[in-house]
Amino acid sequence: MDRKDTIIYEAHGNLYLNITNRCTAECVFCIKRYSDGVYGYNLRLLREPVLSEIISELEQTDLSKYREVVFTGLGEPLLRLDDVLKITEWLAGRDIPTRLDTIGHARLLYPGRNVTRELADAGMKVISISLNAQDENTYNQLCHPKYRNAYKKMLEFARDVSNAGMELRFTVVDLPVVDIAKCRELSREYCADFKVRGYSGPE
Ligand code: SF4
Repeated sequence: MDRKDTIIYEAHGNLYLNITNRCTAECVFCIKRYSDGVYGYNLRLLREPVLSEIISELEQTDLSKYREVVFTGLGEPLLRLDDVLKITEWLAGRDIPTRLDTIGHARLLYPGRNVTRELADAGMKVISISLNAQDENTYNQLCHPKYRNAYKKMLEFARDVSNAGMELRFTVVDLPVVDIAKCRELSREYCADFKVRGYSGPE
């Protein structure tokens, strides 16, 4: 293999960080099921970059060009919570706004830690949670989470986000089984911004 992993990439005026391909879910609509990445970037990692490699790539980038830096990628960034915290601190120290895209299973991954407090203290500004469904059954059908009670715990994590003073966003994918109106209503209940993402994969 002679290709180089894509750890950072740009789109929509943002800079995106792709630090892991591992995940705590197996969503039926996941890009991993039908593509190697997005916007022409191959996001399949040959190996996970270590913290120093990620920081080194950021150091070589003119960060002032971007609206925000977003932890996302083909995987769940919070599987690398300690590195997410260090990178967020590094960015916040340079006044770069940061957002985290997550499936929201942090309470299950780290039951002994106050993850939202740690993220807020590190300087995280926005957390975008993949709400994905209006109820637990639909959620389990769509996301196949690796934990029991994942839907309930994801919603608890959403409350934690707001309580820690960060901006909360919910996203859903526009699929027939997703009740967009109910999801929008949930977003209102949680004082979250709401975004519907189009599905571009195979039928
Ligand atoms: S949470 Fe994201 S990365 Fe993980 S399986 Fe679902 S769509 Fe894919």
